[in-house]
Amino acid sequence: MGLVIVALLAVAGFYMFQRQIGEALFERGIAERIGRDPAAELEDGLHVYMCGTGSPMADHHRAGPCIGVVAGEHVFLFDAGSGSMRTANRMGFPLTRTERLFLTHIHSDHFDGMGELMVQAWAGGGRDRPLPVWGPPGTVETAQGFNAAYRIDSSYRTAHHGTGVANPAGYGFAPREIRLPAGAGSAVVYRRDGVTITVFSVTHDPVESPFGYRIDYRGRSIAISGDTAYDSNLAAVSEGVDILFHEALDPEMVGTMGRVAERRNADVVAKILSDIPSYHASPEEAARAAQEAGAGTLVFYHIIPPLPSRLLHAYFLGDAGDCFDGPIRLAEDGELISLPANSDAIEYRSVLR
Ligand SMILES: [Zn+2]
Ligand SMILES: [Zn+2]
Repeated sequence: MGLVIVALLAVAGFYMFQRQIGEALFERGIAERIGRDPAAELEDGLHVYMCGTGSPMADHHRAGPCIGVVAGEHVFLFDAGSGSMRTANRMGFPLTRTERLFLTHIHSDHFDGMGELMVQAWAGGGRDRPLPVWGPPGTVETAQGFNAAYRIDSSYRTAHHGTGVANPAGYGFAPREIRLPAGAGSAVVYRRDGVTITVFSVTHDPVESPFGYRIDYRGRSIAISGDTAYDSNLAAVSEGVDILFHEALDPEMVGTMGRVAERRNADVVAKILSDIPSYHASPEEAARAAQEAGAGTLVFYHIIPPLPSRLLHAYFLGDAGDCFDGPIRLAEDGELISLPANSDAIEYRSVLR
């Protein structure tokens, strides 16, 4: 009887004071978020933010492809897919400190979050120089399109917040196109403070000059595949990386989707579904590339099709485990993967808030 009375009093108290309880919870949550840079507290090393691990297909769990990398004091983004900037914000990724955006290729799912990136990296941080965007041929035209599309918006923000917040000198993207030397499969495109970024060619016909990237910092290394079918050059350039982040498409699952589309006379959908397996890697092919590279761990991202339940992971992976000796993981949005400098450790944790 006594317990029942205590429980009733607790419920009554909650209803009486829910406004005050809400206020206290809100203030605590805000104090943890606003004006903090959680990345500044990271230990020295390579830190990989999975801001988007999905594909063009709508996916409740996965934003469009985007990987953020903090290497020592330097901050980079690799692609900026739809929705990924919101995930980056929720992860505490230091968007305003982004030094450069690297594009893997000019497919919309890899750059359709660039508008949000442009505004947030600029007006959120008082940037006084445009954000450099480096990528394959087509990067200049694409970035200039974003510059034009957001120009009017930017003028209102400057008028409203002033040049100290929205400095016109820092508005927009400063694009530059990377061209590999004739006959070369890779080239170093960044070298500073122990950080080396190497661009390499992959296979994604008919896309012109699709790239992957390798990042090395103080004894740690990762490679990011971009979109590619199995590619021996990727395997060669990714030699010995701690983690290979590789895209993957499950042909069996996509085949099933295609057959349903055909049965329903959804011809356009069926055609697209029959086209896409040829320029992506199956999980087994990606695992073979990881094995040839001698990668420590294989992490899948740009996962096609969407996997609404973990129960589908084993089906998606198929025989990939037989093709690669190391651990295989499916990346999750919100996952921060830390590789401390000069060690073998890899730490995975969700930092989504
Ligand atoms: Zn893609
Ligand atoms: Zn693509």
